[in-house]
Amino acid sequence: MGIRSVFDGGEMRIEFEKYGIDSKFIAMIWKHVFVNLKALKEEEWEWDWEKQVPSLPSLAYPLLHSNFKNKPLSSSLHSVFHSSDNVTTKLLIKLQSGAFVEAVIMRYDTRLGRYAGQPRPGGLRATLCISSQVGCKMGCNFCATGTMGFKANLTSGEILEQLIHASTFSQIRNVVFMGMGEPLNNYSAVVESVRAMTQSPFQLSLKRITVSTVGIIHAIKKLHHDLPGLNLAVSLHAPAQDIRCKIMPAARAFPLGKLMDSLQEYQRNSLQKILIEYIMLDGVNDEEQHAHQLGKLLETFEVVVNLIPFNSIGTLSQYKPTSEEKVSNFQKIMRGTYNIRTTVRKQMGQDINGACGQLVVNNSPGNTHPLTDIEDLVI
Ligand code: SF4
Repeated sequence: MGIRSVFDGGEMRIEFEKYGIDSKFIAMIWKHVFVNLKALKEEEWEWDWEKQVPSLPSLAYPLLHSNFKNKPLSSSLHSVFHSSDNVTTKLLIKLQSGAFVEAVIMRYDTRLGRYAGQPRPGGLRATLCISSQVGCKMGCNFCATGTMGFKANLTSGEILEQLIHASTFSQIRNVVFMGMGEPLNNYSAVVESVRAMTQSPFQLSLKRITVSTVGIIHAIKKLHHDLPGLNLAVSLHAPAQDIRCKIMPAARAFPLGKLMDSLQEYQRNSLQKILIEYIMLDGVNDEEQHAHQLGKLLETFEVVVNLIPFNSIGTLSQYKPTSEEKVSNFQKIMRGTYNIRTTVRKQMGQDINGACGQLVVNNSPGNTHPLTDIEDLVI
């Protein structure tokens, strides 16, 4: 099988070198594809490599034709769902293999709310929640993706193509790896795609990219070295190993004590706050005692805890959502007793089933408007 996507940078470099073509031209190809596709609707694409990407060495065109025919992207947009308030857009993307992944765009207005006591600058922005795998092998039993099992890793190009599809709808400012899959189980493709996102033509800041993991300890140990400045989010979901194992079977391989040690080391090296995600499951992990356990576990860390009201849409779940009152009580204990910044994720995009990722979007139940920019939480 040839290269899957023109955005598979590593594969492209190998192929270019094989034919004696300078790999600096890959950046030129990416720029033309990105800029041209942003200006066109997919049904308007009539791709002609010579016309759309001029000035390449003549040897490059046969290579592009043989690998990619007249298709600038390997994936296609199968369907698009907009939430009724137009804040959330879910993209269903069909990969070359015929499998589907989801990416979700969430829009927010940075002028809403205050930062450091001042009105916030900026304007309308968008965060893209991106997938790293088809399915997932971690098997978290509150998660719709977990019920699918693992199907395939995405290539770095397939990950980047989600950003390209999304950019035809909104100017993407933040990317969060909180869609389908466990990103650190697809480590090299995720690292390669994140590096590419910070370069031309995407030019995202690394501090605006967040990778979320259930806690793959050996990968966390490498992450700061490979992507210094990246935001790390950890789906902790429980303050004790026995509860974690019950709701996240894969946690058996990653004992909580060792995970916390790896996070201490990560924080010592990166000097960055870590985002802790905590899904609230009625009667499982949402009692006062759990809040105290969590507070004690995290009180020596620089973290932001994001409490996620459980969303049962699309799952055959045995779990029920925690009441707003219990969520608020949990938050009060975390803040009041342990002085840990603790937010509550606003549910959004539920009318399009776009709410089951783990995106950080707001601070309090009942607040239906301002959406919080993720880097404001972790920086
Ligand atoms: S919550 Fe994340 S890690 Fe767990 S099964 Fe779902 S996608 Fe995989």
